[in-house]
Amino acid sequence: MKQHDSIVPDLKSIIGADKLRKQLHISGINMLNECGIRFEFRYILGMKRKPNAFLHCGTGTDKAVSSDLTNKIDKGELLAEKDVQDIAASAVKKSVEENGLDLLDEDAEGKSKDDVVGETVDKAVRLVTAHHSKVAPSLRPKHISRRFSVTLDRFMRTRAKLYREDAEQMFNAGNKYAAKMLEGQATRMNSAAREGWDFAGEWDIIEQYLDGDLIENVPLEEKLVIRDTKTSKKTPSEDEADKSTQLSGYAVAATAIYGKTPDALALDFLVDLKRGTEYAPRFTTRTPDDDAVFFNRLANAVNTIKSGIFTPTKPDDWRCSKKWCGYFEVCPYAKRPKSVLVNINAAE
Ligand code: SF4
Repeated sequence: MKQHDSIVPDLKSIIGADKLRKQLHISGINMLNECGIRFEFRYILGMKRKPNAFLHCGTGTDKAVSSDLTNKIDKGELLAEKDVQDIAASAVKKSVEENGLDLLDEDAEGKSKDDVVGETVDKAVRLVTAHHSKVAPSLRPKHISRRFSVTLDRFMRTRAKLYREDAEQMFNAGNKYAAKMLEGQATRMNSAAREGWDFAGEWDIIEQYLDGDLIENVPLEEKLVIRDTKTSKKTPSEDEADKSTQLSGYAVAATAIYGKTPDALALDFLVDLKRGTEYAPRFTTRTPDDDAVFFNRLANAVNTIKSGIFTPTKPDDWRCSKKWCGYFEVCPYAKRPKSVLVNINAAE
């Protein structure tokens, strides 16, 4: 299909761009997919909630990992282990100081704020120590925490035109439902282009290295790998990176900026288990077909925002609870279950 050709010619991209136009980030797209009402509270109404211990731990871990790898780029070696641990501890405390701490998290139940902060610091230190010894030595970082912004307007219009051509082919082949769906998608693409949105974000780690650089007389080929560090309480599934919308978005941005699809993308999971920290990397790749799916979701997200009609998640979704949703108390769609006494003999 024509619409699956390379995305490069019609995308304009900027590295390290400041906010210039309306921007959609991967966190917003994911939140919109999970619960439209949560997105409305957070991004349309601007209502922020305090981060919980898990998020503060992620902030501390990211900061320490970035500092460690930045030192590797600048000076050719990692920081001392103690320095990495100190950076993680300070970053967690600073994050709590600046953003507050939500104590509704299950791990915080019945504990004081100081206890939770102490446990979070210890956890972040455990995780970065594992990254420092098990992951960082073998990475070949080129850029760390690199921001990007991709302008979509022209690309969306080109894609809309191709969708219309495909729709006509489908219609002529007798497949009127597929034709209608493609027409609808073309309309959403044009509508998204008129709104003038950019897709923006930040890559954690970009690795660039020469394949075969250890073998004499073998032609060298530059490889591009995008990595994101994740903290987790449980071992991720084997296909976690394959399913990741975040990595799909990062691949699209890398293709626009570097002119080639990344050779690999990875989620570096640091899993905090009772028996110790487990390192569980999950690798994947993306193709132009994956790019097409990502752009369809992006166009859909822009049109949902434009319409102002946001859909609540299912009431039995685990996220729709006091423990997992910071908007539960004020959300008109939150379930309010009440236990009632039912007399099973009443109907007899
Ligand atoms: S309470 Fe449920 S429906 Fe409301 S914002 Fe939270 S997850 Fe969405």
